[in-house]
Amino acid sequence: MADRDGVIWMDGELVPWREATTHVLTHTLHYGMGVFEGVRAYKADKGTAIFRLHDHTRRLFRSAHILRMHMPWSEDELNRAQLQVVRDNDLESAYIRPMCFYGSEGMGLRADNLQTHVMVAAWAWGAYLGEENMQKGIRIKTSSFTRHHVNITMCRAKANGNYMNSMLALNEALTDGYDEAMLLDAEGFVAEGSGENIFLVRDGVLYTPDLTSALEGITRDTILRLAAELGLAVREKRITRDEVYVADEAFFTGTAAEVTPIREVDNRAIGAGIRGPVTEQLQNLYFDVVHGRHHVHPEWLTYI
Ligand code: PMP
Repeated sequence: MADRDGVIWMDGELVPWREATTHVLTHTLHYGMGVFEGVRAYKADKGTAIFRLHDHTRRLFRSAHILRMHMPWSEDELNRAQLQVVRDNDLESAYIRPMCFYGSEGMGLRADNLQTHVMVAAWAWGAYLGEENMQKGIRIKTSSFTRHHVNITMCRAKANGNYMNSMLALNEALTDGYDEAMLLDAEGFVAEGSGENIFLVRDGVLYTPDLTSALEGITRDTILRLAAELGLAVREKRITRDEVYVADEAFFTGTAAEVTPIREVDNRAIGAGIRGPVTEQLQNLYFDVVHGRHHVHPEWLTYI
């Protein structure tokens, strides 16, 4: 990742990609206290546009607020930084990674006298769970790792340290031959994937877990809104793993994962074991919206 051309926005300056480095005593590297975003830009009808830029930046600020990290920039400035890195790296479509971290000004858990540093990078990144799987669907496994309890780390913050749990779960699933993990919350109800929210379809109704132990996903919100606009019944509720087993369809949502069908969970086929019709309809609609081919929500696209 480090050895490539381009520029990265760091603390207000555009720095050549290979020179965008930090000291080994960077506080966040030691203790994981930081917040970040994953954002995508797509080639749309009138040029490249960032999808739900303002919502992502707002979530970044909310994450910082939850962790009580001081933000040295305004939302507006970070919106402009994200547009700039896509533009200045000549990207037609991109994955954008803003991150706020504590620097090397001091060590220790007291974390006083630390400064928040901000970086924004962007690069081309295809289908996170594989192009073929977007049609065929993936195989997932209930994780032996429990998703964060709200009083351990707070799931509404997209915080760096939260992802140790995600990585342990994903690594276990991949090692066991699955494509992704499904994590349960501390009470045993379905929470989310390692980096995705989960949806089920049963008897034409769309279900997704409430947000106790899941990130407030922007793709989740997009799908809930698009589904409601299509006239589908949508319900947010507690979901058990056996409800997933007997669902007609299931899929993951996320900025990186987009809308990825799930064809099997814990070695049980979901529905017909292929991408279901509601999943396909929502997936197509999602891609139409992010690519500006469907004009229902022009406010979701910010052209660079
Ligand atoms: N849950 C987790 C743990 C994630 O990391 C992500 C990706 N940001 C999501 C859900 C989906 O969120 P979004 O749709 O905002 O990308």
